[in-house]
Amino acid sequence: MREALNTEFVVTWELVPGRGAFGKAQEDILRAAEEVAGDGRVHALTITDNPGGEPAMAVDYLGMELVRKGVEVIVHFTCKDKNRSQIESQLYALHRAGVHNLLVMSGDYPADSPAGRPKPVFDFDPIHVLRMIGQMNGGYEVPSFGPPEVLAPTRFFAGVAVSPFKKEEGELLGQYYKLRKKVAAGAQFIVTQVGYDARKFHEVLQFVRSAGWNIPLIGNIYVLTYGIARLMYQNQLPGCVVTEKLMEELVRERQGPDKGKGARLLRAAKLYALLKGMGYAGVHIGGHGLKYQDVVYIIEKGEELVPNWPDLVREFDYPQEGGFYYFQRDEGTGLNTCEPTNRHGSLPPKGLDNRFFRLLHHTLFDERGIFYRPMRLFSRVVDGTRLEGPVTWLEHLIKLISNNCQQCGDCALFDLAYFCPMSQCPKNQRNGPCGGSFEGWCEVYPKERRCLYVRAYDRLKAYGEEENMGRYEVPPCNWSLRQTSSWLNFYLGRDHSSKVLDLDEGKL
Ligand code: SF4
Repeated sequence: MREALNTEFVVTWELVPGRGAFGKAQEDILRAAEEVAGDGRVHALTITDNPGGEPAMAVDYLGMELVRKGVEVIVHFTCKDKNRSQIESQLYALHRAGVHNLLVMSGDYPADSPAGRPKPVFDFDPIHVLRMIGQMNGGYEVPSFGPPEVLAPTRFFAGVAVSPFKKEEGELLGQYYKLRKKVAAGAQFIVTQVGYDARKFHEVLQFVRSAGWNIPLIGNIYVLTYGIARLMYQNQLPGCVVTEKLMEELVRERQGPDKGKGARLLRAAKLYALLKGMGYAGVHIGGHGLKYQDVVYIIEKGEELVPNWPDLVREFDYPQEGGFYYFQRDEGTGLNTCEPTNRHGSLPPKGLDNRFFRLLHHTLFDERGIFYRPMRLFSRVVDGTRLEGPVTWLEHLIKLISNNCQQCGDCALFDLAYFCPMSQCPKNQRNGPCGGSFEGWCEVYPKERRCLYVRAYDRLKAYGEEENMGRYEVPPCNWSLRQTSSWLNFYLGRDHSSKVLDLDEGKL
């Protein structure tokens, strides 16, 4: 993958494992491997990790089987159901098995099971996983009885996902701020989410180019059947966007004698041509029930259409109604100019709660605040004494009322405009939104809760500080601080915020 992405247009084919050790989905994947092995037109098979949050056959083992068959594999590596120890274990197992290409993602929220809903883990976010992979690739230093032991370097090639198909400004900017962090953490390729709007595909390409990143971008081509399109249209497949206009076209197409198969494969071939023409480094082809000959058709027809790709832009004009674009529209091409859209015309209201938290922060936790030094002294005095308990519970009570505090002791309120990602983001994302929000609403509670990052964006934008959302990388929660006072941990240099602000205990 690493070499191919530097030299040619890369095609990957996504396959979805099912439940059971020997189910049909598993056999289909093995058959696909035999078909693509040695063909050269499909560079890699990608395998989904527990799609839709449902359990399925482990991708690691399937990936290993495919590697043995001589097929290049990308496994989806998600954070939903493993903690950091399990992530490290799994990474070493993958390396040993010869599976080196990973697509690192947060993952879908776990779906209900007959025994009730599984415990969502989300201990690391994709940025934390990328950091761990970077350390492993460089030779992981682990404690031992003597000097630290340096483990043999791995050679993972890790990519990430991004969704430009977001309707709201805060949603979209959250994706791009998080992408910046992913790149800084070592992402080596980027794959887009499922969508069909040419201008959005162009937008993310232009965003990557304008940031000066030399990272290959792979466009997602999902071959839409009517049934799957309907689920996407109804927001039942998180993050995948099918607009009303596209849905109407699919309704017409399914009246045909082939039930729309020809039309959907041709649409995929056109999208292939569009993405290649635009400058994408490759495509990631997926679709329910897709056969090898369908993939070959998409490639061959797509190649035939590439020279005329600008004519196809108008066929992929599927904006979300009132949707925000990062760049201004280029009326000539139907794509984007290099000029960013003006985001400063109107500001969200400052809000009483926002003002209150800022005041509290500036007086108590800012080094220049009037109560900062007294609080620091107070923390030194009470730490480890009988007063520590009441202070801890007073803090918890205040934060329980304001933020439904989970008492992590390693508070992330400073990082997210005084919202708590541990209690109010179901996936505990600490560095930016997951890809699952829809029209500004949370993937997990699509009718009840706004995505926490959209709310944080508005809070920050009210003060012209929205860029702060991507300002620094938030480390994973330190669970050894659980049920201790994060105030004391902050003033005494034990939590991540004091380290981000460079307030170590020595300086105090
Ligand atoms: S609050 Fe936002 S980031 Fe968190 S799970 Fe919901 S959509 Fe994803």
